[in-house]
Amino acid sequence: MIAETRKIRLIMELRQGGVTQTDVLTAIEKTPREQFVPELFRESAYDNRPLPIGGDQTISQPLIVGLMTQALALHKRCKVLEIGTGSGYQTAILARLSRRVYSVERIRNLYVDAVRRFDSLGIGNVTAQIGDGGLGWPEQAPFDRIIVTAAADTVPQALLDQLRVGGCLVIPVGAEGGTQTLWRIARTAEGFEEEPLTSVRFVPLVSGTVG
Ligand code: SAH
Repeated sequence: MIAETRKIRLIMELRQGGVTQTDVLTAIEKTPREQFVPELFRESAYDNRPLPIGGDQTISQPLIVGLMTQALALHKRCKVLEIGTGSGYQTAILARLSRRVYSVERIRNLYVDAVRRFDSLGIGNVTAQIGDGGLGWPEQAPFDRIIVTAAADTVPQALLDQLRVGGCLVIPVGAEGGTQTLWRIARTAEGFEEEPLTSVRFVPLVSGTVG
């Protein structure tokens, strides 16, 4: 099957899975996922599944990328914090739908590859750094939106602190290999409102950096 046909099939699968916002679907359609996966997996780039990216990490399943992006309700004025750059695929989609994305990755090799991809694709509104994302990015806070693409045991307090009132955080919570739930946490003037979205399976959020 040629790439374009695979891509159309993927978009249909995402629609069926609940990704209905046109701007989110368009961002996914315009982001070349084959550039974010290892050469060996190019053929599978438009399959609706996670794929290995090295360092025991994975590029997220497209449906989950779509649902998380949709849950963020982004607009062009948003300043976004992403924890877990990984391949940079989710980052590239966020970058299309917001003003600026700050992305933190703990593994140096993944960070280096992701930054190279942003450069080669001409993505200019992403600032990435190596660090422990559980600490957020205090120098750039507050953020309008925060997304975490690794599962935490509990929601890191630093991320709640760095979220602007009126903004929201989308994060998978739960133990590795166990049941994990994707949560949307909105910050209001009164406090935080938590809403469970769906069951998910993510690699764990790990503290400290590698490399
Ligand atoms: N959104 C990525 C998914 C990557 S998997 C993609 O689409 O490719 C999760 C990523 O989170 C991994 O790259 C992992 O190294 C990173 N990660 C785990 N714990 C982290 C932490 N505390 N700080 C920053 N990144 C972390």
